[in-house]
Amino acid sequence: MITRAACESLDAADPLRSFRDRFALPDGVIYLDGNSLGALPKATPARMRDVVERQWGQQLIRGWNGAGWIDAAERIGGKIGRLIGAKPGETLAADSTSINLFKVLAAALQLRPGRMKIVSEADNFPTDLYIAEGLTACLGGRHSLHAVPAAAVGESVDEDTAVVMLTHVNYRTGRRWDMGRLTALAHAHGALMLWDLAHSAGAMPLDLAGDNADFAVGCGYKYLNGGPGAPGFLYIAGRHQDLISPPLSGWFGHAAPFEFNPTYVPAPGIARGAVGTPPILGLAALESGVDLLLEPPLSELRAKSLAQTGLFMRLVEERLAMHEFEIVTPREEDARGSQVCLRHPQASPIMQALIAGGVIGDFRAPDILRFGFAPLYVGYADIWDAVDALGRIMAETAWRAPPPQACATVVPGARNS
Ligand SMILES: *Cc1c(COP(=O)(O)O)cnc(C)c1O
Repeated sequence: MITRAACESLDAADPLRSFRDRFALPDGVIYLDGNSLGALPKATPARMRDVVERQWGQQLIRGWNGAGWIDAAERIGGKIGRLIGAKPGETLAADSTSINLFKVLAAALQLRPGRMKIVSEADNFPTDLYIAEGLTACLGGRHSLHAVPAAAVGESVDEDTAVVMLTHVNYRTGRRWDMGRLTALAHAHGALMLWDLAHSAGAMPLDLAGDNADFAVGCGYKYLNGGPGAPGFLYIAGRHQDLISPPLSGWFGHAAPFEFNPTYVPAPGIARGAVGTPPILGLAALESGVDLLLEPPLSELRAKSLAQTGLFMRLVEERLAMHEFEIVTPREEDARGSQVCLRHPQASPIMQALIAGGVIGDFRAPDILRFGFAPLYVGYADIWDAVDALGRIMAETAWRAPPPQACATVVPGARNS
């Protein structure tokens, strides 16, 4: 049996343990939902106050140049690029993940004229599929989205496939694709590869350049700790950038936005991924979160993440074996991200009881309990305590009280995935 004392020793030996104190986490809460909304870095309020009071308040419009607002999207994009293994000038912080996906998916289709298929996974996060549907309708309905079960993705890629669009770590199951293998498979058929890194960026090292990815998007408010509604990011491999005609051809992606020309000329490089005026306040909070993530070696972050997800699964097996939880997340380390999902027919009321007791994970319909492990601020003893709390809930009957129709779908974390 794994004891709490053994988990405390793991915490004491943890090379990343000092990072926990860099986050403002409430007392009495074990936060296992950083894959949905990352925690608040302690440095962020002061950074925000400076941007609001000194930059905006005192510099006013002069802040665009004087405080570097005009370069913020590329500067912060460059920092995110270091987390995802992009080359300099390939990543931009901008817009939401959904909007960025629209932009890069449209770009990918442009680069493969005559090919009509978008291949994706049926269990992809819904917005990704919705955006693909909306885009194909915009383009006249000649393209089609093939959202197939994960096991059929490989065989669905063919000579009519323009782009393969996958989320690297599945939001529900935590299953992780082999980025290098899938990218090579897409390329072998002449298709382009687009990765959604919503559940990967900031949770593990990535090597977009080494894996030869064409496009990527991701979230700023999950493992990057950029705050609710933080801007997302997009990545366009350098070799494609100047071949793309931006579908959302706004003035911030113009070659000379301040010449106010009546016709659109796209900026060179990653700048053409921009659309309109960037949200400077949101970018400031995002930069604070990203700066913190640039400090630890990402290999250590990944090692801790794997140790934590592995510990959680072992504890569930050891201590909750009698309670019909099914571990959905793969046991092989290479095949999982930084979260663990348990299936249980009463997942919703169990998660509500857990949250009421101070252990915050989330519920994904119809029967998934989801636990995210952000290695910078989750401790090993926290994991022991979380499983202990789950065991106590299962031993009680209180959580069975709400009738099934009263199982609210609005639980913390329900909006962002
Ligand atoms: C969280 C998430 C999103 C969120 O998109 P927004 O535009 O930020 O709301 C998109 N795709 C995936 C795979 C996600 O996990």
